[in-house]
Amino acid sequence: MNGMVYLVGAGPGDPELLTRKAHRLIGEAEAIVYDYLVAPEILALARADAERVFVGKKGGGFCCPQRDIESILIRLAREGKSVVRLKGGDPFMFGRGGEEAEALVAVGIPFEVVPGVTSALAAAAYAGVPLTHRAHASAVVFLTGHEDPNKPDSAIHWEDYGKLGATLCLYMSMKNLETITRRLQAGGLSAETPALVVQSATTGNHRQLLTSVAKVALESEHAGFGSPAIVVIGEVAALSTKLAWFESAVVASATEWNLRP
Ligand code: SAH
Repeated sequence: MNGMVYLVGAGPGDPELLTRKAHRLIGEAEAIVYDYLVAPEILALARADAERVFVGKKGGGFCCPQRDIESILIRLAREGKSVVRLKGGDPFMFGRGGEEAEALVAVGIPFEVVPGVTSALAAAAYAGVPLTHRAHASAVVFLTGHEDPNKPDSAIHWEDYGKLGATLCLYMSMKNLETITRRLQAGGLSAETPALVVQSATTGNHRQLLTSVAKVALESEHAGFGSPAIVVIGEVAALSTKLAWFESAVVASATEWNLRP
């Protein structure tokens, strides 16, 4: 009899942001397959005798090719185990959960998906940024900055997103931030648009930096910001000066932001 695979979102870091369902399944699992963004406090919820398989490494590079991760899930499920595939944030948000679900379907292994608090929502909430606001933004876009923005067949036409007037949430964008922000401005985004970087949101290492889209790449580099970080671009980002509540290191906020009331 095949076991079951649960694709489970572990949330952004703070263990209290785990869903009750995730908590229960982690505690019951016979095998846990996890990557680097999963907090140790969350892994500690697993049974002492649960098989633990680490399949990712810091920096976004995989120590395990995606195909191998899928084979591991299939092997464990074929051993009849209850398997939790634990991912940072939400499994279907830039987490390759879709590919893993497809691989399971292809071989007839049953699975369930447990949503998690994705890091953009968590970063915004803890930084004091309402991603939508009646006066400032009626739409939100989630984008990955991971792919090389200079490659000619880049899937993301960044210039288009400079015209949207939506709040932009960038995942995995720190390495390419200079090019991304330049292309957004080339597309019409004002250089003065507020941009907020939130690193290690919700954890003890949470840091945030508010600046403008023109300066964010340089300033965040100077302030030593790196992965994992979310960049929120849009008028709403400036609300963090008023609404930041998480006692964390707010690194700098030099500019006066004149928001429409
Ligand atoms: N499935 C995850 C995203 C995985 S991609 C989710 O839903 O959040 C990895 C990227 O997520 C990182 O490069 C970073 O952009 C973001 N990320 C994950 N955890 C984060 C955190 N605690 N703070 C800020 N960004 C985070």
